[in-house]
Amino acid sequence: MKIAVTVKETREQVDEWRRQGLSVGLVPTMGYLHEGHKSLITRAVSENDRVVVSVFVNPMQFGPSEDLESYPRDMDRDAALCEEAGAALIFHPEPSEMYHNGFSSYVDMDTLTGGLCGKSRPVHFRGVCTVVAKLFNIVVPDRAYFGQKDAQQLAVIRHMADDLSYGIEIKGCPIVREADGLARSSRNTYLGKEERQAALVLNKALSEGKKLIESGERDAVKIKDTVTGIINSEPMARIDYVEAVNWDSLEPVTDINGPVLVAVAVFIGKTRLIDNFIALED
Ligand code: AMP
Repeated sequence: MKIAVTVKETREQVDEWRRQGLSVGLVPTMGYLHEGHKSLITRAVSENDRVVVSVFVNPMQFGPSEDLESYPRDMDRDAALCEEAGAALIFHPEPSEMYHNGFSSYVDMDTLTGGLCGKSRPVHFRGVCTVVAKLFNIVVPDRAYFGQKDAQQLAVIRHMADDLSYGIEIKGCPIVREADGLARSSRNTYLGKEERQAALVLNKALSEGKKLIESGERDAVKIKDTVTGIINSEPMARIDYVEAVNWDSLEPVTDINGPVLVAVAVFIGKTRLIDNFIALED
């Protein structure tokens, strides 16, 4: 497995694979990799001849008061995990390699980004779309892999790939959890012992919401009230949002009569965690 730090090296390697007629999968990440990322890489390896994992903490998707500086990083461990999972190349650029002096072109989206995480993180999706567009242009993969953990991001990227005619298959992958149900996240490392315990309330609340839908409840307000009530029963939790939206348009729903995304963002202490489930998907 190679580690490339420049766009040029990455392009040269991918060009060589292309000349050999090999297919290429891309897994974009911010590093500090865990089993969730690994599941994406493993799937990509099973569906492509060569897999590129990008490891880049993208400054453009962080707001001014967010955790860009403290975001955890461990390249040695990441490289070992990628190698074990069968990746062929890690693209690990410095911010200056991705955003040269005078960088001023962006990819933004009018739909899908106003609610959920986009509401409290107003610059986030412009940063995500711009960096993913750049990664698509650098690697030109056949397929790209994204986790349902970041469900709004998955929807946004699908939409962007379609709008901008990338011709790249966008693959959504299920949420990987710890044994006790906590969704794996690089940010879980911020949690102290008591906070780690308190964080279980996200999955607990969502599981109850999911059960209600599975048993026939179709009133989105009731689902949201149940989820909200359970999260509020945890003193260390502060809700950013609890939403039920159409799993296509991401518009809020009142009656659930098709694929629905129930998503939450909750602060546990200073750490903002997200989790979700999708129900009634065919
Ligand atoms: P990140 O490094 O947090 O930007 O995540 C990189 C990719 O891994 C994104 O597509 C995430 O949705 C995905 N991912 C992160 N955590 C998980 C998880 N627990 N299960 C599945 N995919 C995940």
